[in-house]
Amino acid sequence: MKVHHLNCGSMRPPLVPGGIVAHCLLIETDDGLVLVDTGFGTHEVTDPAQTIDGLSRRLLRPLLDINETAVSQVEKRGYAPGDVRHILLTHLDMDHAGGLRDFPNATVHVLDEELEAATNPRSTKDKMRFPKAQREGVTFQTHTATGEEWFGFEAVKNLPGLPEDVLIVPLIGHTRGHSGIAVRSTNGWLLHAGDAYFYRGEVETPPSNIFALKMTARQTETIRAQRLSNVERLKELKARGDVEVFCAHDPVELARLG
Ligand SMILES: [Zn+2]
Repeated sequence: MKVHHLNCGSMRPPLVPGGIVAHCLLIETDDGLVLVDTGFGTHEVTDPAQTIDGLSRRLLRPLLDINETAVSQVEKRGYAPGDVRHILLTHLDMDHAGGLRDFPNATVHVLDEELEAATNPRSTKDKMRFPKAQREGVTFQTHTATGEEWFGFEAVKNLPGLPEDVLIVPLIGHTRGHSGIAVRSTNGWLLHAGDAYFYRGEVETPPSNIFALKMTARQTETIRAQRLSNVERLKELKARGDVEVFCAHDPVELARLG
């Protein structure tokens, strides 16, 4: 399968040199287009106050450029928004689920726990990070892991309507149903690790980090122990060298793959 790496949401948080991106995937399958995450969409660009709370706008400083939206990049490649049949989300944070309403024919796949966390927020913080407006009119299909495996990780396989080389890999911690999405491209296996980590140095040896991103990871985590143990497991997976591992927000990883 041909996989395109897109940036669907540049952000310029203070004290992060080079800023961050919203790394999304556009996959061409025999049966239509598939997106992994949607970054910020046309609704965020035209009316940010509707879905991005004031604090996040100040902390993330999103660029909100209409040319970066997934729908604009799909159209630029000669496709129609209706050609996108499936969207897999690493999680439902507003900088990952922003473009859902731009794709009326798509079924959106997430883990059960993630939709539950967004639909029944347990705190004001959760209410802010999962804005309800982003999910209005969206068709969801939820999934539960049933003990299948992928490179030593638990995985949800055989997703209805999707090629067998597209899997959900639960990486719980950042949110309750946070997941990676694994895709076997023409160049081998990829793992989009979402917000399991924020900076490439976290999964390198020796590890390194940017202070502001380390703080962001801590402030936005939901289950700390699981998040940290998944960073270790991703580091091991990356060290094996047979899977291309990358996160949602690192611009250097995106430049390497895009
Ligand atoms: Zn994020």
